[in-house]
Amino acid sequence: MSVRCGIGYDLHRLAEGRKLIIGGIELPFDKGPVGHSEGDVLAHALCDALFGAAGLGDIGTHFPDNDPKWKGANSLLFLEHARKLLVENRFAIEHVDAVVILERPKLGPHFPKMREALARSLGVSAQKIHLKAKTNEGVDAVGRGEAIACHVVATLSTL
Ligand SMILES: [Zn+2]
Repeated sequence: MSVRCGIGYDLHRLAEGRKLIIGGIELPFDKGPVGHSEGDVLAHALCDALFGAAGLGDIGTHFPDNDPKWKGANSLLFLEHARKLLVENRFAIEHVDAVVILERPKLGPHFPKMREALARSLGVSAQKIHLKAKTNEGVDAVGRGEAIACHVVATLSTL
């Protein structure tokens, strides 16, 4: 068995009147990410980490933002598609570790639901999905609440 790691990063601007969806879960908040899709930073960074580990390009390769098919798309569909590609290429997900960076709202209480949603989309147990949240200590655009960012590392094994 060989093991491979991939890294993913995403950032979206936040604007009023948009739904805040992180890890496939809608959170009550007055702002949400601006983007062609739902702007789910966690799902997007996770996709990129999986594609990176598998050597399958990136999220833009598979879901071009000029393709109307993906406009407003449910981010979990991206993950389900990534899962299919991993299986086709004989990879299994060993572990996912993520850190979401935002000032507000507090994410901790929502982590169990997010882990469930992500794990279901990826066809793995929720124990394989580890989530963390950080603020940006008031610094930069993320610190001013103007943006949300996410880093993910995914570890795959070959089947
Ligand atoms: Zn994104």
